[in-house]
Amino acid sequence: MLSEEEYYTALQKLHNIPSHLHGNNRQNYKQVLKKQIQEYEYNLKYGNFEPLPYIPYFVNNITTEQTLHQLIQASSSSSEFTLDTESINVYKKKNQPALIQIQVLLPYNLSLVMIVEMCHLPHHHTTRFTLIKQLFDIIFASNKTIYIWGSKDELFPFIIFNLFSREQLQSITTINLQHQFKLFWNQHHRRHHHISTSSNILEDRCICETCIGKKPSEPWSLQDSTAYLLDEYLPKILTRAQFNIGLDPNLFNLDSEEKQYRQQLTKYALNDCLSMQRILIHMKNTKFEFSFEKIIKIPYDLMESVSSSDDEIMFSQLTPSIKRLTNDQNLNINKQEQFISTSTSENSNWKITSTNNSRSANQQHTQSTSEREHQYTHETQPVHEHKPEHKPQQLSMEERKRIHNRSCTLKQRKRLYRQEIVCENT
Ligand SMILES: [Zn+2]
Repeated sequence: MLSEEEYYTALQKLHNIPSHLHGNNRQNYKQVLKKQIQEYEYNLKYGNFEPLPYIPYFVNNITTEQTLHQLIQASSSSSEFTLDTESINVYKKKNQPALIQIQVLLPYNLSLVMIVEMCHLPHHHTTRFTLIKQLFDIIFASNKTIYIWGSKDELFPFIIFNLFSREQLQSITTINLQHQFKLFWNQHHRRHHHISTSSNILEDRCICETCIGKKPSEPWSLQDSTAYLLDEYLPKILTRAQFNIGLDPNLFNLDSEEKQYRQQLTKYALNDCLSMQRILIHMKNTKFEFSFEKIIKIPYDLMESVSSSDDEIMFSQLTPSIKRLTNDQNLNINKQEQFISTSTSENSNWKITSTNNSRSANQQHTQSTSEREHQYTHETQPVHEHKPEHKPQQLSMEERKRIHNRSCTLKQRKRLYRQEIVCENT
C-alpha cells in the first residue's frame, strides 16, 4: 500500500507519462499506477471487507484422510459452491496454475473454504490423492452449481494435476458471476447515456456504469463489485504473488516473517471466494434470476449423449445415493473463523447431518421420461432455490438435470449389469 506522499507522486506520474514509453510498455506503466492509486483510494473510502463465518481448510500432502472424508461429506450434501483459482507469473512463460479455492456453501450462510495446493499434493498412488480426486468428482458434477468470477476456462490449465479431466470440465455447468453481476448492476442502476455536467447532487451520487466510468463492454472486477455493492475494500495488491510456495504453515518449518507472508496470501486466496459469497447473497436477496454459462440450446437427445459420460458413471458409483438438503437439516459449527490447520484437524469441529430426501428411482425415471418433449435451454432457465418438495410441472432446470442424470445413471447401471452377465456367460 502506498503512503500518502507516494500516492500523490503516483497521481503526478499518471498525468505525466514519459514520452519514451510506447505501446504495451506505456499501457503496463499506466495500469500499474492506476492499480496503486485505486488501492489507496478504496482503502480510504471503504471499510475493510468482512467475510461471513467460515471454516478454512488446506488440501495438500499433509491433509489427513479424516479431513478429506469430512470435506467429501460436506460437498456431497451441498449443491452450491463458489470457486476461484490463483496462478503465478513466470517470466516470459505462461502463467503457472497454483491454487484452486472452493467454498462449500452451507445453510444459514455458513461455509467451508478449501485451498487446494496444487504444487504440494500427495503422490498419485496414495489413498489421500484418490480422496482429493473423489472430492473433485463430487463437486465437478452436473447436479452442482458452481459460481465463478469469470468463465470456467481458468480451470483448464489445472488438468495437468490429474485431479479432473478435460471432459469433466466440459460437462459441468458454471455460473459466471462476473457476467451476472454486470446484468444485475445495470438492472438496478440504469445507464445514463451521457454524464451530466450539472452540479446536481443527485446526479453526482448516481452509480450507474456511465457515471462511475465503466464502459458497456467492460467486465466488473471483484474489487469494484465489493466496493460499489458492499461498501467494502477488498485488497488486491497480492495478485500474481507466489501462491505455489505452500501456504499451509505446517508444510515447512517457517520463521515468523515467512508465516506472516503466508497468512496474507491465504487471506487473499480465501477472500476471493468469501466476497463472491457476500455478493451472491446480496443478488439473491433481490430475487435476481441467475442464468447458466452455456447459451446454446441443447436438444434432449444431444443432452443425453453429453451427460452420459464415463465421468458420470464414476460419480454415480462413488455416490450411490444423491443426498439433498432439507429443512430439518441440523448444522452446528462450534469454532467459527478459527483456522483449521491440517495437522490439528483430527477432530471434527463441525457436524453436518442431512436426511436423504431423494425420491425412489422408479418415480424419478418416470418423471424424466415425461420431460422428454421439453428442450433444455440453459440461458432462459433461471436457477431456483432448492426446495425439498415440488410438483413435477414446477421443476427447475437444476432439478430436471438431477432427475435426468439419475435416469442416465440407471440406464448406465443396466448397461453395466448386462455386460457383467455377458462376461459370466463366456
Ligand atoms: Zn448515472
